[in-house]
Amino acid sequence: MALIIDGNAVAAAVKDEVRDEVSRLAAAGVTPGLAVVLVGDDPASATYVAMKERDCAQAGVLTFDHHRPADISQDELNAIIDECNADPKVHGILVQMPLPKHLDAEEAVARIRPEKDVDGFHPASLGRLVRGVDGPRACTPWGVMRMLRHYGIELTGARAVVIGRSTIVGKPMALMLLEENATVTVCHSRTRDLPAVCREADVLIAAVGRAKMVTAEYVKPGAVVIDVGINRGEEGGLVGDVDYASVEPVASAITPVPGGVGPMTRAMLVANTVAAAAEAAGR
Ligand code: NAD
Repeated sequence: MALIIDGNAVAAAVKDEVRDEVSRLAAAGVTPGLAVVLVGDDPASATYVAMKERDCAQAGVLTFDHHRPADISQDELNAIIDECNADPKVHGILVQMPLPKHLDAEEAVARIRPEKDVDGFHPASLGRLVRGVDGPRACTPWGVMRMLRHYGIELTGARAVVIGRSTIVGKPMALMLLEENATVTVCHSRTRDLPAVCREADVLIAAVGRAKMVTAEYVKPGAVVIDVGINRGEEGGLVGDVDYASVEPVASAITPVPGGVGPMTRAMLVANTVAAAAEAAGR
């Protein structure tokens, strides 16, 4: 029986710390603020944004809503970002992805002032991660690191395998594991004999976007398995990249979907916003 890594419980612990930090800042007259830029009416994006705004409200973080129709121009989007960059009440800027196809997401992210990049996607933030310098870290892999730390999972010298090489999850995940002295392998769609590479892992992180792809065949007995994937299941619910039923009996610890990495991503966004507010206030 694997230990079930409870993302909701760890996220609650992060939120408690964040609330303490918000109280400390309030005593100094600072209220953290997050600008939320949502373009278009994608229902999934609207749901994510609503959940993030609720998390902020619960933590005492103000949100400033910038919802625009799907047909806004790049110039209009840039103008919103510029306005948020200049607003001292805004400590973090979230541009909800994906943007409609005619908009350049790279340009939008690069336009955010690095100190307000609470998603950790700005080239400067990624550069800081590569250099091992403190700075805003991408929320999903940062949340995974926090979960691993919470459960005392040893990373020094461990073999870690990350499946997926996206800029928002796979690559920063690999760098964060490296920062904690794991020996890291990054796998992707062209990796040969993926199950054999994955079976070398003491810590296996799946960030692929393919429902239940990682079966017991991919997992060394006793490995820790972290499932980042969020996919629509055949019955309509959410399923991860890991085939939970077959992997759970083999793993020593595993994250469920839902209730694993998802709540951590949102908690780390609030934590990054509060940290940005503290930094801006010099507190
Ligand atoms: P992505 O599509 O940008 O990247 C997927 C990666 O998987 C790519 O690097 C690709 O090379 C690799 N891949 C695809 N097919 C593969 C295969 N058959 N074998 C090996 N590698 C393969 O996706 P992403 O944005 O990194 O997200 C990955 C998953 O994580 C998605 O399900 C997404 O919904 C989920 N996600 C969850 C959270 C969260 O908060 N839990 C946050 C972000 C993303």
